[in-house]
Amino acid sequence: MLSRFGLSLDGLLTDNNAKLVKGSAIARAVIHHTLPGRALAAAIDPGNDAAVAPRAFLPALAALAAKTGTAELARRHNACPWATAGCSNACLVWAGHGGLSAAVATARGRRTLAMIAEPETYSRAILWAIARQWAKAAADGLPLAVRLRGTDDVAWHLRRFPASPLEAQTIRRRFGLVVDAGESVNVADALQAARAEGSVKLYEYSKAPTHGRTGLEAQRAAGFDVTASLAADRATAARDAFAAARAGFRIAIPIELGKADPLPARVAISYNGETMILQTVPGDETDHRWNDPAKVAVILRAKRSRGADPAVSGFILPNAPAVRLPDGLIQLLPN
Ligand code: SF4
Repeated sequence: MLSRFGLSLDGLLTDNNAKLVKGSAIARAVIHHTLPGRALAAAIDPGNDAAVAPRAFLPALAALAAKTGTAELARRHNACPWATAGCSNACLVWAGHGGLSAAVATARGRRTLAMIAEPETYSRAILWAIARQWAKAAADGLPLAVRLRGTDDVAWHLRRFPASPLEAQTIRRRFGLVVDAGESVNVADALQAARAEGSVKLYEYSKAPTHGRTGLEAQRAAGFDVTASLAADRATAARDAFAAARAGFRIAIPIELGKADPLPARVAISYNGETMILQTVPGDETDHRWNDPAKVAVILRAKRSRGADPAVSGFILPNAPAVRLPDGLIQLLPN
């Protein structure tokens, strides 16, 4: 499967982006980058003439989709069921290197194609890729932190695959990682022993609702540490943030803050006559959200998403003391 989609085991997980490197004293960190939302469909559409190359038609990806018979799947794929207009526009998939290079977008698209074409095999490949990275982390005496929803919101806790005893044994022999075998496991199940001893940390950000089988609570119950992402331009932004914080989740909030601007010390979210105050933690010093306390606001300085339409706003909060949400209010408190 990997060669069919032009992939390699080592290339499935990124281990060298700047934010991951910042946290390298705490854990080795890896992230899975794919194309978000409906970006895969857009990337194989010859009529897509977006001005920024990684957002435009990607001929090599379209050719691969045609060759592998996955074009129709790609056109239907929505990697972010809870995305808003604002976050789709300002998505970090097009920040930094991802916003400059069509080759990077094509590589992310190849992973996305493989993931939707052969979900079970792809999940097994991710398990192997984690095992390889785990061995590197273990050699450095560090845990491995894994973020699979790096640039999408795919329900990894529901992606099940067979992990045979033979496969578990092979992974253990090659990499030293104990894998829990089973006929139908997800990544968290397969890594149960490593999670229990603390040598693997699975963590995600998600815009899913709090409840339901795809929701934040279900992700947490499956073994993933989850931080809720505020969707400030959603009609239910304040209500959703309230529900998530009440259930103990952190709330990630992107704000237009300059490098020298201080972070707010606390955030107050008001909804339906109630106000909830959350302490803040800096979200840019590392990406190790699993190491943060529960029920805090994680403040992220907004980064430039290349090719974003300035007219589509509302997702990133302005750096103002009080900002109206569609159904409430958010206040950034200096102390
Ligand atoms: S910000 Fe998150 S939910 Fe929105 S498009 Fe990007 S990956 Fe998807």
